[in-house]
Amino acid sequence: MSDYPPQVSVREVGPRDGLQNERPVPTQAKIELINRLSGTGVRRIEAVSFVRPQAIPQMADADQVWGGITRAPSVSYSALVPNLRGATRALDAGLTEIEAVVSASDTHNRKNVNRGTEESLDDISAIIELAHGRGASCQVIVSTAWGCPYEGDVPVERVVFVAGRAVADGADCISFGDTTGMATPGRVRALVGAFRSTYPDSGLNLHFHNTRGTGLANVLAALELGVADFDASVGGLGGCPYAPGASGNIATEELVHMVEDMGVSTGIDLTAMIDAAADAERIIGRELPSQVLRAGPRSRTITA
Ligand code: ZN
Repeated sequence: MSDYPPQVSVREVGPRDGLQNERPVPTQAKIELINRLSGTGVRRIEAVSFVRPQAIPQMADADQVWGGITRAPSVSYSALVPNLRGATRALDAGLTEIEAVVSASDTHNRKNVNRGTEESLDDISAIIELAHGRGASCQVIVSTAWGCPYEGDVPVERVVFVAGRAVADGADCISFGDTTGMATPGRVRALVGAFRSTYPDSGLNLHFHNTRGTGLANVLAALELGVADFDASVGGLGGCPYAPGASGNIATEELVHMVEDMGVSTGIDLTAMIDAAADAERIIGRELPSQVLRAGPRSRTITA
């Protein structure tokens, strides 16, 4: 029927990436959201990040959130770590999947973590070694993979070079993040094609933002290339830190709604995910950008 992958793996990033870019919410609300998401059929949840509370107050309660959730056996939970210290905290807390992050753009990396991309890559090499030594896996997220708010376009060769260093250092998977929603389908094909031809055996996750309305078009372009691992955020939680009022992450229920209708299975119950998005909207107290949350699934009929 099509050359799309028969199934895709979706990582729900609302509780971390989403809530980190919203105003702070109570610990208990985060716990309830994660528990709710754990019952939707989603198999991966990015639950927390272990960062300095002074740096990111929204994630100051990572230990309480992680300790407070009911971990579903069907779900694997991950944490984002900014440095070796954060990685140690995450592993000490019992996480077995961590994500380290580096920007392809040197300026973005300096603004984020106060050092250049190369220095972050050195640190990430140590994070990978630490994780592996303790039986955990480590994904490396390459952010600003399709452009930087300070530098503009980031050349494909530069992104592949940064990712390649992480692959060489033993990263279990690479994730390309479209931090500010600058990707379009042609650019997705260019980067995925270049990365795949150089590192055909590396795992690849894609993290799209819908800041400029191309989020699901980018997913479609990636599906056509056989990519089967995507991030999405319930309700589209998480705005764009560089453009107040703009949307960020693609919404999980929009992703599920589209790909399931194309015959690509996600394992996620669409109704349950829409209900979770409604919850997320209540927790955050603002209208979330998800259109499937507003309109309901395409199969919804109205009683005359
Ligand atoms: Zn994001």
